[in-house]
Amino acid sequence: MSALLGIYVQVPFCQTKCTYCNFHTGVVSSGRFAPYVEAVCREIRGYRELYRAAGVELPERFETAWVDTVYFGGGTPSLLEPELLGRMIGAIRETFAGELSEVTLEADPETVEVGKAAAWIRAGINRVSFGVQSFSDRELVAAGRMHRRADIYRAAAILREAGIRNISFDLIAGLPFQTGESWKESLEELGKLAPEHVSVYLLEVDEGSRLGLEILQSGTRYSAGAVPSDNAMAEFYEGACAFLGELGYHHYEISNWARPGFESTHNLKYWRREAYLGFGAGAHSFSGKQRWANAHDAAAYVGAIEARRLPAEQLEAVTRQSALEEELFLGLRQLDGIDVGRIEREYGVALGARFEPLQSAGLVERAGDVVRLAEGKLSVSNEVFVELMR
Ligand code: SF4
Repeated sequence: MSALLGIYVQVPFCQTKCTYCNFHTGVVSSGRFAPYVEAVCREIRGYRELYRAAGVELPERFETAWVDTVYFGGGTPSLLEPELLGRMIGAIRETFAGELSEVTLEADPETVEVGKAAAWIRAGINRVSFGVQSFSDRELVAAGRMHRRADIYRAAAILREAGIRNISFDLIAGLPFQTGESWKESLEELGKLAPEHVSVYLLEVDEGSRLGLEILQSGTRYSAGAVPSDNAMAEFYEGACAFLGELGYHHYEISNWARPGFESTHNLKYWRREAYLGFGAGAHSFSGKQRWANAHDAAAYVGAIEARRLPAEQLEAVTRQSALEEELFLGLRQLDGIDVGRIEREYGVALGARFEPLQSAGLVERAGDVVRLAEGKLSVSNEVFVELMR
């Protein structure tokens, strides 16, 4: 059977910059969208030559690779005219063999319109990942989001009416002004809208966002003082685990839940270390043997592609050691855990000693060859990973 291949397309444009955002995205005039899409289509159609010239060596099995998933992430890809999204899907269909069974579009609620939703479906999009983040207007305003609670209900109804049968909602635990009560309300409102898939992320505090920087420097402009404590965030996360479990969602990855059968086929490829190619500024790719990423800057990316050059910045071979670490790190993110026996055989290593202290500390559980994060310890997974990689 041919190897399955996922395709990621990065659309690095937003209407505004959310205070907590640490992605490389820009607020640009809509006149920049079409030239960017043109460059992405060129990269897709010319990927073999571009890769060859840049030193990317695709394994032979790519000759017969079969594309089944496409993911438009960002940024806010739903800002683009549907016709531009359709062009990129067209370039993928022309270039790769496959049947696109899961085509996801990240969308922000305020960008959803009746005409757009119908055009998305015509273009082949069948899954929408919705940046809900919270149902509290106070939290949305403080986070610099463009949408309000009312937009979420309006947009969800439009998507359903248009015939999107696979919707994912994102929530963030840890936004400024979030309380136990407001978090519970966000979960309950989400439950009423019954998305097929849910992602819950903890607020990331780092220098890459204005809010993160302010928390680290104790400033006041972005409401850093109103960010819940780490303990509160961990409680919110545990609350989400319990609530979504009661509603019948399958918790399959640390941050992800799905109705049975609605797990994200595309995202599973990342955690299972399957191949994916990323197109667009800042997009990451993994061939099984190499990892690389395109330049983040959209203008630099477009300039390079127009000059028939792949702006690959971090091309590196995946060493045996880094592959092993990825197996452990990505494997443990999945609630099914990792098959230690398989990894020991494939990599010729003994892992028992690495897991024993974590097992004794109650952080991981082992049943035969399968090791997984212990129940109730998912919110401290980062500490577990740090210990494991020592
Ligand atoms: S919409 Fe998403 S990508 Fe854009 S600024 Fe906000 S968090 Fe960042």
